[in-house]
Amino acid sequence: MVIYPSKKIIVVSHCVLNQNAVVHGLERAGGGFPLVHEILKEGIGIIQLPCPEFLYLGSTRPSMNKNEYENMAGYAEHCQKILEPIFLQLKEYQQNGYTYLGVLGIQESPSCSLSFPRGILMEKYMEEMERKGWSMAYFEVPVFYEEEYKEEKPEDFLSSFHLFLEGQK
Ligand code: SF4
Repeated sequence: MVIYPSKKIIVVSHCVLNQNAVVHGLERAGGGFPLVHEILKEGIGIIQLPCPEFLYLGSTRPSMNKNEYENMAGYAEHCQKILEPIFLQLKEYQQNGYTYLGVLGIQESPSCSLSFPRGILMEKYMEEMERKGWSMAYFEVPVFYEEEYKEEKPEDFLSSFHLFLEGQK
């Protein structure tokens, strides 16, 4: 049987697929977020961003705010550097007719938030997307989202997420 790929791509924050990377005590799922099922059901390919905090400070890092990360020597440059392989992949996909749907971040993360205040990794990510003239579409996993919501609630969030996956948001 021949399987034809959807040729649709979404970029997600690392911990959307792997909550093991989160500051201990702040995990919201045993592994990946159940909302990933929504992406899989649509046949959308997933590019996982690296977790900048895990790579820079490790698994036992404390919880810190954006200001603390901004004042941490080398952290912003680290974020810029680890994004380079992601942009190489996106360029290759875009040059070969694949559709980039946007990036899925984590609301209120000092590194991966997309709404105000934007996290440091996502600032770098979006600056580069703008510079390249690529799509600025994004969606965030809201702070209230936890594994136990699974697929039934809150419906507004999942409806919005589907609109994003359909390129309408
Ligand atoms: S830095 Fe980003 S990917 Fe890493 S745990 Fe925080 S929100 Fe998730």
